[in-house]
Amino acid sequence: MTSLMDPRTPTIVQPRRSQDRALPLIDAPVAGQRDLRPGLSGLSSDALRDWFSQRGEPSYRARQLVDQLWSGRAVSFAEMRTLPAGVRAALDAEFRLDTVADTAVRPADEGLTEKALHILDDGRTIESVLMRYPARGLRRERATICISSQAGCAVGCPFCATGELGFWRDLSTAEIVDQVRFWSRRLAADGRRVTNVVFMGMGEPLLNAETVLEAAAALSDPQRFGLGARHITISTSGVLPGIERLSALAPQYTLAVSLHAARAGLRDVLVPLNRRWPAEEVVEAATRYADATGRRVTYEYVMIAGINDTPDDAAQTAALLRGRLAHVNLIPMNPVAHTPWQPSDAGRIEAFAGVLRAVGLHTTVRRNRGIEIGAACGQLAAELAAQPTPAAVARRREILVERSAAALRDAPAQARATAVPDATAAVISR
Ligand code: SF4
Repeated sequence: MTSLMDPRTPTIVQPRRSQDRALPLIDAPVAGQRDLRPGLSGLSSDALRDWFSQRGEPSYRARQLVDQLWSGRAVSFAEMRTLPAGVRAALDAEFRLDTVADTAVRPADEGLTEKALHILDDGRTIESVLMRYPARGLRRERATICISSQAGCAVGCPFCATGELGFWRDLSTAEIVDQVRFWSRRLAADGRRVTNVVFMGMGEPLLNAETVLEAAAALSDPQRFGLGARHITISTSGVLPGIERLSALAPQYTLAVSLHAARAGLRDVLVPLNRRWPAEEVVEAATRYADATGRRVTYEYVMIAGINDTPDDAAQTAALLRGRLAHVNLIPMNPVAHTPWQPSDAGRIEAFAGVLRAVGLHTTVRRNRGIEIGAACGQLAAELAAQPTPAAVARRREILVERSAAALRDAPAQARATAVPDATAAVISR
């Protein structure tokens, strides 16, 4: 097992310069070397209480452990001095205190943004980001953590570095919440705390829905991390059964839907899941979530110059969302290597926002954070993955130009259904 790095003194990897590709490279452990102990933070409070009671330990020991696990700064069982040595040894034999084997951090935006590349025990890499927002007016200081729910992603959105990486595997509950625990310990060293968590990192959260719901429950449980449910956002590119599951449970989480286009043909290209669950059905399901919870749904819209930012796109988006309990967040696209596309300019974004606001839709424009450190999801992991050849990148760009041009001409759907990555095709046909 790779040694756990103290989050108070993580590896600092400076923003990449042309000759600097100094992120840590590790060899994936070979079979038999993996640490198969489950992550302790994935256990419910009941399961922990059972574990102590089966050993004849008093129930307050479970409480002591939960306190150390979720609010303490211990990075090894040995540091949990409130627990007897025998209990610490038994815990160590059965569980991992942290499922993140190692972490490298890159700062940006004069320290307001930090991106972590977490290395898991099987050598897979995932990413999380800390975004600090200083206090302004009556608004208190905030620290938002963006976390991953899968290693890689099968959805294959062409503007996303994670989509280009492909899908490796779902994360476990502990692997998800340990990203938050990492930042929580780091912020605590500074006298600060996590105020918001968004499931918007690598992966499609609702393709790993049960685990994501368990993780969100752990984070919002007053006995464990204790973050208010309203401070947790679960995003989806439109997994209908997952949205329906959320509606049935009706938690107070914010639901964020990655819309990116209202026109069916164009959304087929930008969010390939649209071929399985079209935008109209997704928006209807999200509206049922809003009805069940009273919570406004956020619609994320990545602005790509000349592709989805036209006056017609704005009008169709306004028509689709008008009258719904909705907030639209316009996000200039983060440039990534494998696409030929660029972010929309500020004027185009403001014009788009104006059309939405004119029909009463609450609309904001997100300022991108950490562009110089590749803060868009998947960019650091992509640096560690095998680099595609220049010919492969060029071919990928050609395909995107062809497919987006066909979509913009409203060519038949079949003509557009070419060159979908295998993993994406598997999700679409599931
Ligand atoms: S944008 Fe989200 S859903 Fe789409 S490929 Fe990237 S991680 Fe997956």
